[in-house]
Amino acid sequence: MTSFRALVLNQTNGDLRADMRQLSDEDLPDGDVTVAVAYSSLNYKDGLILNGLGGLVKTYPHIPGIDYAGTVLHSADTRFSAGDRVVGTGFRVGEIHSGGYAGRVRVSGDWLVHLPDNLALHHAMGLGSAGLTAAIALHTLEEHGLQPDRGKVLITGASGGVGSVAVVLLSHMGYDVVASTGRPENVDYLRSLGASEVLPRTALDEPSDKPLESARWSACIDSVGGVTLARVLAQIEPGGSVTAIGLAGGAALPTTVIPFILRGINLLGIDSVFYPNERRRAAWEHLGRAIPTSAIDAITRHVDLADVVPLGKEILAGHVRGRIVVDIEP
Ligand code: NDP
Repeated sequence: MTSFRALVLNQTNGDLRADMRQLSDEDLPDGDVTVAVAYSSLNYKDGLILNGLGGLVKTYPHIPGIDYAGTVLHSADTRFSAGDRVVGTGFRVGEIHSGGYAGRVRVSGDWLVHLPDNLALHHAMGLGSAGLTAAIALHTLEEHGLQPDRGKVLITGASGGVGSVAVVLLSHMGYDVVASTGRPENVDYLRSLGASEVLPRTALDEPSDKPLESARWSACIDSVGGVTLARVLAQIEPGGSVTAIGLAGGAALPTTVIPFILRGINLLGIDSVFYPNERRRAAWEHLGRAIPTSAIDAITRHVDLADVVPLGKEILAGHVRGRIVVDIEP
């Protein structure tokens, strides 16, 4: 029987440990489609899971990894055949279901998307949950009237995973992108991705007692939350929109209703985890068309599965730049 390596989390007496193990198909959960995983990735949520935070994992032993790209080995789902190239993100794989930090995953066909021909498996993971989320955010903003000629679009937490893909995607779509970062050493990186301006994080993360500030942004894709999101809401142009993606800077939202009722702005929540499968394919096709693979390479670093545990701490500390692709085969 074929064996494959997997990163397995175990918890005993409150202590979490991660071990590389050799597993076989019998160790996988029930599911319609078995996929040979070539690459996974590291997201902020993987960092939480690798460190036992957020109450995301309910039972151990557990294989983490919320993203995976690979080739179908067996399928009882007629939509998939052996050899199909697929990508999976979300649907709580890697949280309550066994995840992609393993040579194989077994999942429901409802959670899989056929990869567009123009995306290689490693490029799919260079995008991953972060890329899908950036694509959904842009689509949602455009549904609410955003167009390239409306003015500057702000991206916060810009040198992170969602932020980096958002900067690349929007700049390739013709938007004037302003990137906000707390890391001055990433200014040149963000400009090279297409940002026309880079704003220090400190311009946005101090509380203000003004319910409205000068309107500067036609829209914002925000990964940070907290005071930053509150300040951004006060700076959005009349009728503009903000997509709330994440909470890298905090879950609280200390704001008022004033920007909503005096400027008619929209605060739009983004959930990529349960984004409907029929719309995912369109989002992946859009990513494949809009972003040259050289731009994905520019935001991506490859690591071995064995290196993921220390990086899980680094991403929570805000020290990871861009996207990390995890090579599943050594
Ligand atoms: P990353 O860690 O890669 O990016 C987060 C970025 O936020 C950092 O790189 C940093 O950017 C900035 N940041 C970090 N800490 C702070 C802080 N204390 N205050 C202000 N800014 C900070 O994570 P991801 O891109 O993977 O995820 C970003 C957020 O989006 C997370 O909260 C994640 O859970 C969420 N998320 C939500 C999804 C959804 O479906 N809604 C899907 C994917 C992610 P810089 O140094 O440039 O300032």
